[in-house]
Amino acid sequence: MNALQRLFRFNGGVKPDYHKEPSTHLPIAVAPTPTLLVIPLHQSIGGPPRPLVKAGDGVLKGQRIGDADGNVSSAVHASTSGTVVAVEMRLMPHTSGLSAMCVVIEPDGRDEWVERNPFDFRAATPTATRDYLRDAGVVGLGGAVFPSHLKLNAGKQGKLDTLVLNGAECEPFITCDDVLMRERADRLLKGAAIMREMLAASRVLIGIEDNKPEAIAALEAASAGNIDTTIQVVAVPTRYPAGGAKQLIRVLTGIEVPHGERSTDYGVQCFNVGTAFAIYEAIALGQPLISRIVTVAGNVGQARNYEVLFGTSMRDLVALCAPLPDTDRVIMGGPMMGFRMPSDDVPVVKATNCVLVGSQKLFPQPPPEMPCIRCGECAKACPADLQPFEMYWFSRARIFGKAQEYHLFDCIECGCCAYVCPSRIPLVDYYRFAKSEIWAREVEKDAADLARDRYEFRLLREEREKQEKAAKLAAKTAAGREKAAAALAEAEKPARTPDEEAKHALIAAALERAKAQKEQVHPENTGNLTAEQRAEIVAIEARRAEIREQAKPHLRQDD
Ligand code: SF4
Ligand code: SF4
Repeated sequence: MNALQRLFRFNGGVKPDYHKEPSTHLPIAVAPTPTLLVIPLHQSIGGPPRPLVKAGDGVLKGQRIGDADGNVSSAVHASTSGTVVAVEMRLMPHTSGLSAMCVVIEPDGRDEWVERNPFDFRAATPTATRDYLRDAGVVGLGGAVFPSHLKLNAGKQGKLDTLVLNGAECEPFITCDDVLMRERADRLLKGAAIMREMLAASRVLIGIEDNKPEAIAALEAASAGNIDTTIQVVAVPTRYPAGGAKQLIRVLTGIEVPHGERSTDYGVQCFNVGTAFAIYEAIALGQPLISRIVTVAGNVGQARNYEVLFGTSMRDLVALCAPLPDTDRVIMGGPMMGFRMPSDDVPVVKATNCVLVGSQKLFPQPPPEMPCIRCGECAKACPADLQPFEMYWFSRARIFGKAQEYHLFDCIECGCCAYVCPSRIPLVDYYRFAKSEIWAREVEKDAADLARDRYEFRLLREEREKQEKAAKLAAKTAAGREKAAAALAEAEKPARTPDEEAKHALIAAALERAKAQKEQVHPENTGNLTAEQRAEIVAIEARRAEIREQAKPHLRQDD
């Protein structure tokens, strides 16, 4: 820890009960490979990957089964070796209860890897390194699953001032980053060093809430012998949501990123500590992202952190922790920002940092929602400096344009406003509803714009084809007219007189004779003559030569 690091404070925030201890007593365990893996193709922000396998294909562990759809996307890999039994729609770990395309793999038990080779990022161009990480499926593991290769870009200036690694992990119950930092600190630091080099950052600040002394100690010990002195471990005050990217940047650097702007505009980029570890594994070991650490906590006999293969059913995972009989729900994430799952038989994905098991006793039904009394408590608690009650009014009234004017999309859905609201209004639900409506309208608008562009293009094409057809027809008509005129002129010529006919015949005969003379055979060209004709020509030529020979002395005398 750098004692000299000056810290700042973000506005708002709350101090909920953390419930973190139960899942940190035991070390990380490896969850067993299930009998069936259901791996969703779409596990990151951006376009859903294209499937590269079909039912019946054999796959190896780490084999790419979904190819990134463009640059804003990320590849997906087989979590173990086995056989693809289906590529089909399956229920997603999302509160909507919607299904999406998944690759279903029956493991063969061999857990056989594809060939793995370290990637020499120093010898590669930055673009090639980013492409490699996209194809290795590395995304942000803090929950947002933004493709990491897009953030590992130093921009036009070619360098950043500060790389922030987020180890705050402020959400109650969740401890996956805590145990990762405790148990894998050295590899995490190697990942941080790779990222620092890629971003040409002047320094790396690893921010950890001060309620994780073991993690801080482990990272400090690992960094003690580290030659990269630009990496600093910084303990920050425990206050929810210190783990919000803008909030942590504010605490560590004092920079307040304004609404609608990005931290990179201020020379700072922020990644989760789990992402740094995934980057180390991809670059140094050649291993794509096929698993992550997941906290299983809440209404269970033994809370714990597991290294879980993507595609493992949450039901199988929860079963490892002895769920209590009154369990009635499974939440992905924590109690503040998490989502209740439509079923416990949904797969663990890259965004799954926690599977929180719930019951009526643990999370009692909130009292009925009351009218807003405009007390302003929500605004005081908001760490993003928003006016939650205004956004609530406009979201509820479906006046989404006004909600956006109040920076709805800067809301990080931390839940602080709802946590303090005396009227027990589920404010975040209203914001999520408004955001999804706005997105849906934008998708509809984009689709309508596309349809209109297509229609206008079709009209243009039809008009052009019409004009080309008319031009062809006009040219054809003109040619026909010329031909008809010529025929008419010929037909209208006066008939020849008998004298003219005789003259015409004489001229034709003379032309024929001239042609015959021209074609008369040369003595040397006797190919078409009979033997008698050739003999006669030879005799004539011999006689001519004799006469020329007799005339020579006379000619010489004359000379
Ligand atoms: S805290 Fe609740 S009651 Fe108070 S202003 Fe905000 S929304 Fe209204
Ligand atoms: S959920 Fe949104 S509006 Fe409410 S406190 Fe958090 S950032 Fe502010």
